[in-house]
Amino acid sequence: MHDLLPEDEALWRFVRDTAERVARLFDYRLISTPIVEDSHVFLRTVGDESDIVSKEMYLFDDRGGDHLALRPEGTAAVARAYLEHGMASRPQPVRLCYFGPMFRYDRPQAGRYRQLWQFGVECIGDASPSADVEVIELQRTLYEELGLGDLKLRINSIGTAETRRRYVEALRSHLEPHVATLSRDSQRRFETNVLRILDSKEDAEHPALQSVPSILDYLDEGDEAHFTEVRALLDTLHVTYEVDPRIVRGLDYYARTVWEFEPAGAGGQSTVGAGGRYDGLIELLGGPHTPGVGFATGIERIMLNLKDRPTAVEAPRVDLYVAPLGEAVNGAAMHAARRARAAGFAVRAGFPGRGMRAHFRAAESANARFIAIVGENEATRDVVQLKPLDVTDAEQREVAFDHLAEALR
Ligand code: ATP
Ligand code: MG
Repeated sequence: MHDLLPEDEALWRFVRDTAERVARLFDYRLISTPIVEDSHVFLRTVGDESDIVSKEMYLFDDRGGDHLALRPEGTAAVARAYLEHGMASRPQPVRLCYFGPMFRYDRPQAGRYRQLWQFGVECIGDASPSADVEVIELQRTLYEELGLGDLKLRINSIGTAETRRRYVEALRSHLEPHVATLSRDSQRRFETNVLRILDSKEDAEHPALQSVPSILDYLDEGDEAHFTEVRALLDTLHVTYEVDPRIVRGLDYYARTVWEFEPAGAGGQSTVGAGGRYDGLIELLGGPHTPGVGFATGIERIMLNLKDRPTAVEAPRVDLYVAPLGEAVNGAAMHAARRARAAGFAVRAGFPGRGMRAHFRAAESANARFIAIVGENEATRDVVQLKPLDVTDAEQREVAFDHLAEALR
């Protein structure tokens, strides 16, 4: 887990503001669910053989004996809220977005943390390819607005549950002769959920995996039509993508369209965001059949990618530094600061007990635009000596408290 320090604030805020702005552009409304959920919300949905359930969940019992989990991802929690608040009775689809911390007992390394932040959107209650493409377009727009427009999009269709049953048989017979040479994780997955071997990072380069049958050859007519339409709409929008039949996504609840965005030429640890359709998810939570589609993107991985490039993000500046010359005028200085703040100016208050030069140094290190000096002479008349710090040889002038905001403007 990691700390977010003040020096990262500007970039962090830029990412968050951009995500919220783009969500608004697509009319996705913010939902905030608790960080802690009943563990079944994830145990029932995410899949026994997913990394999350098999090894990454923070699970604990509370004092009442309830089994809880720190949420490892947002989609199942949002789906739980959709059900719990009867959102099926609202006009469909319901468009939601979230921004918050997730927790996974992952192996820490660059871009991989145990508390990670995600922004994600969910479009729940519509099964059409238009919904998939809207969500992809939102995600693409987000990266574009962030200055990451060159991320590569890879898409696939993993069909419906029936498609996967047929594909899994073919995959099994293909991998069977090679099982002994696969990683231990993959050997276990061969028994429990063979599809997940395709998602293995360890075996990605194994020859048996290079030559696996393509799931696209197993799609039924409905899957096929859906995927064709998704691609046609992406083509119409001039969204570039690559079809990659080996993308299956880490979570089991996906169906049909799945995708990932990653930096050009990067390896397996670097996916910036991923999404997919999850038509069976709400049923797994005990609700009626309800289609949905969404994506999640890792904020730390966005920041990591942004740090490599020049961005227009500037650290916020202080407008005014207020310098009280002595204890006796401290109250007057605080009044001056209050006036400026009330007009929306950011003020760093100097505390008494330092001399003029020290105040000037402090104002410079705060990168303040102006300094307001309050001595005894000023305090008795409710005025300050105001001096711009950005301008060399600027004159200082006397400004009444009443006119301070105006003078700063
Ligand atoms: P990976 O294959 O890299 O483990 P995942 O399939 O587990 O990713 P998702 O569950 O799809 O990832 O999460 C969506 C996004 O969240 C990822 O694309 C990534 O940007 C981010 N993410 C996932 N796990 C972590 C982590 N441990 N630390 C930081 N970001 C993460
Ligand atoms: Mg993972």
